[in-house]
Amino acid sequence: MATPDITIYGAGIFGLSIGFEILKRGFKVKIVDISKPGFGASGGLLGALAPHTPDNWNEKKEFQLSSLLMQQKFWNEVYAISGVDVEYSKNGRIIPLNDDRAVKLSLGRTESAKKLWKGFASWETINKIDKNWYVPSPTGLYSYDTMSAQLNPRKACKSLELAVKKLGATIEENINNRVDKNGLEIWATGHQGLNTLSKEFNKLIGDGVKGQAALLTLDRRNHPQLFTDGIHIIPQQNNLVAIGSTSETIWTHEQTDTRLDQIIQKAKQLCPALINSEIKERWSGIRPRVKGRSPLLGPHPSKENIFIANGGFKIGIGLAPKIAEVTANFILNQQDMIPKRFTPAHVLSLI
Ligand SMILES: Cc1cc2nc3c(=O)[nH]c(=O)nc-3n(C[C@H](O)[C@H](O)[C@H](O)COP(=O)(O)OP(=O)(O)OC[C@H]3O[C@@H](n4cnc5c(N)ncnc54)[C@H](O)[C@@H]3O)c2cc1C
Repeated sequence: MATPDITIYGAGIFGLSIGFEILKRGFKVKIVDISKPGFGASGGLLGALAPHTPDNWNEKKEFQLSSLLMQQKFWNEVYAISGVDVEYSKNGRIIPLNDDRAVKLSLGRTESAKKLWKGFASWETINKIDKNWYVPSPTGLYSYDTMSAQLNPRKACKSLELAVKKLGATIEENINNRVDKNGLEIWATGHQGLNTLSKEFNKLIGDGVKGQAALLTLDRRNHPQLFTDGIHIIPQQNNLVAIGSTSETIWTHEQTDTRLDQIIQKAKQLCPALINSEIKERWSGIRPRVKGRSPLLGPHPSKENIFIANGGFKIGIGLAPKIAEVTANFILNQQDMIPKRFTPAHVLSLI
């Protein structure tokens, strides 16, 4: 088989995962970033690998499910090559049920999870809580899914970076231009890439949504993640708990600010175990959001030999293994597994 000359632009979780998958299949890859690997949205603190609810099922939810089911094997393979553990753990997720409607929905999801999650995990409605790790529920009831997992995003980027290098890739940092316009290119350039595409087509294909998060001191490893009132509270596999995030469509700077203080304060009010926790780190990143909120995956609509992988938005870390598999199958095997609604041509046709 001829060796394609593949250049991946963007060394975030999408670009690095795609690089890993292509290299594993024996092809050569060069990765180029305007900054450094893992310095974009992917190098954050949360790393929730949490499923969409098992109802109103669609291609996007099926795609995410498939990716979540790939996570453990994917990261074991990366770890085996890089030697960096990404601290993957699967401890489920607890969500308080605030009213009768939420309880009814949760009970219905138990049945739909049986069918849609194909026996890999369950969705339960529970009334028992761990007194050392909970958020209050007005009904006294909670939903508990056993699908949700979590990893350390920064370590995931580092592990992938080392793995692709060990598999022979070169990574070029701080490069501001396209290095080689002759071979096949993959554009995994995050929110900046969405801006570039929007300018190119003179249509708003997508943009960046800022998110702020923090790490607080508290050891709750192997405990479930909590989700309440828009706040994710995610124990790490160490003595820290990640909390987040803001979702800011309008932002004027990329640093953290008082909006993060509000999230931290709210998390402490909602989760009694956090009350004496100290702030270990504050972080912010810009999520790549495509109009319609689906990923953007497929050939460039008007340029040959360019493939786009973008639009991870709030679940990009969870989507990465599947994005990598589908991209490699398309490019290397001419096997098209891309949901139509993800393709750039389709997204453009809707705008
Ligand atoms: C606060 C916050 C919390 C989040 N929590 C979660 C979570 O719990 N679970 C989850 O699954 N997802 C989460 N996400 C979303 C997830 O982080 C993103 O969807 C994902 O990181 C996007 O990956 P990416 O590789 O597309 O983008 P990025 O990580 O931003 O990478 C893009 C890369 O491209 C580079 N680049 C840009 N332009 C060029 C160019 N012209 N040439 C070369 N390189 C270029 C950039 O420097 C960057 O390194 C969160 C995001 C934020 C901000």
